[in-house]
Amino acid sequence: MRCPTCKKDNTLRPWEGLTTVMGVEVEGRGQRCRSCGEILIELTERGRQERLAAEHLVDRGIRSGVEFKFVRKLAGLRANEVADMFGVRKETVSRWERGEVEIPRTAAYALGELFAHPKLTRQRLEAFAQP
Ligand SMILES: [Zn+2]
Repeated sequence: MRCPTCKKDNTLRPWEGLTTVMGVEVEGRGQRCRSCGEILIELTERGRQERLAAEHLVDRGIRSGVEFKFVRKLAGLRANEVADMFGVRKETVSRWERGEVEIPRTAAYALGELFAHPKLTRQRLEAFAQP
């Protein structure tokens, strides 16, 4: 395999170390180019790292719109789904994610629960929406 950055052949070697995802350091593995130092990470491995980073953010508390959006996407939720479940308008979720409005702590917490326990949390939130 050829390094996509420096285009040299046979310079990639297995690599393990710390990598930063969304400001969170997680253990990662991939391949590193001996020539230019580029680190290549497969998509499935990147997905695993993103989940680890999201778990960390949820444990320490989602603090920004960027983090909220990151966790929401990894939870497989669209902004309008989150809005429906939380009883707010879609525009409100957009404002949280753009950092225009502070995210209510309860919403940040509920998103973390949706990420950690998707089915149960969804059922419980939807129960509130019943007439
Ligand atoms: Zn290279």
